[in-house]
Amino acid sequence: MSREITAKITAEIASEFAAEGTAKHTAEIITERATKDTTELVAKDTSALTQDRIRGCLIGGAVGDALGYPVEFLYYSQIIYHFGEKGITEYELDAQEGKAVISDDTQMTLFTAEGLLNSAGKETEKIPYEIYRSYLNWYQTQMGRQSPESGKGKASKANSGKANSRLMEIPELYVCRAPGSTCLSALSSGRMGDLEESINMSKGCGGIMRVAPAALYRKPDEAFTKKEIDLLGAQLAAITHGHPLGYIPAAVLAHIVSVGVYGGSRPGMGLADAVKEALETAQELFPESGFMPKLAALLDRAAELAGNEKEDIENICELGGGWVAEETLAIAVYCSIRYCDDFSKGVIAAVNHSGDSDSTGAVTGNILGAWLGLEGIEEKWLRDLELRELILEMADHLCTGCGC
Ligand SMILES: [Mg+2]
Repeated sequence: MSREITAKITAEIASEFAAEGTAKHTAEIITERATKDTTELVAKDTSALTQDRIRGCLIGGAVGDALGYPVEFLYYSQIIYHFGEKGITEYELDAQEGKAVISDDTQMTLFTAEGLLNSAGKETEKIPYEIYRSYLNWYQTQMGRQSPESGKGKASKANSGKANSRLMEIPELYVCRAPGSTCLSALSSGRMGDLEESINMSKGCGGIMRVAPAALYRKPDEAFTKKEIDLLGAQLAAITHGHPLGYIPAAVLAHIVSVGVYGGSRPGMGLADAVKEALETAQELFPESGFMPKLAALLDRAAELAGNEKEDIENICELGGGWVAEETLAIAVYCSIRYCDDFSKGVIAAVNHSGDSDSTGAVTGNILGAWLGLEGIEEKWLRDLELRELILEMADHLCTGCGC
């Protein structure tokens, strides 16, 4: 594409010079200026595209979360009873706020983003600790106090000093929207879970549903590879979820989101291939895990089901309820591949089932938003979305942080 742009610019500059009657300008000068202009133009285009996809990922996650939150605890039959045979297809606005409210999934995603921003300039190994600090801030918003064990171990250090949190100044983030009990209990323990020392044996989806910013924070390069981004996704989930199937799916999600935003190992890589590549990287990262075959089989099945003619509800039921991380990811992979060019259809399919609708909606929204960009999300989803401006602002900070 850049060759075509160069040719166009070269012709424009040449005719400009001809009009000025400046025949003394040589072909070399014209080519040099055209190349410089093309580089600037392509960089600007790439940067705008990256920004749009980072915004799409965060807003998309929030849309799926807000659409699914009112039906999180409803069976499919109850959803159909309340919303008609197509299920919930539009926001159910909160009676008090008049908004499509976000739940703990998006609240924690924002705190992940803030922790990443606070980690700027620090060594890679210290990033998870900064996120842990940020999650302790989230804990305070939900419980109205610091973690009871905040004086112990890593929590003591993490809680000392200034909170350094703009998010803690946002009243909406103090509202409790069914915060996950595993996240709360892990953060109240005074311990920070990591890949070496499991904090518990939970594989609930509270880990994966908040880690998408791990893939947005840095453009993968030699200094910070895609594999390291995937590892970061797993590390962030492992802060509160210690079962391998609680954190390995988070690594896979980080990879899929990163490919959507920054591109894959080869041009034009599709979503199904990105999922395969993500699984290969996860296998390299966790070669000893006996849970990899189970995860790979479930995601293969999700990709396979995405191509059949059956109803979404039938396919999604086969993948599970989405309460545990590998099922959340499988449902999101299914919906994203099946509706890879239609954000609205993807998130609607993701929330209409008997399982954890807001989290399956959030993760599907993260993936489709990263791949289609904000431009691919219908305007109607932004109109009533709670904290829309804040979410966009955080996305732009992440974008600036990644240097685009
Ligand atoms: Mg939730």
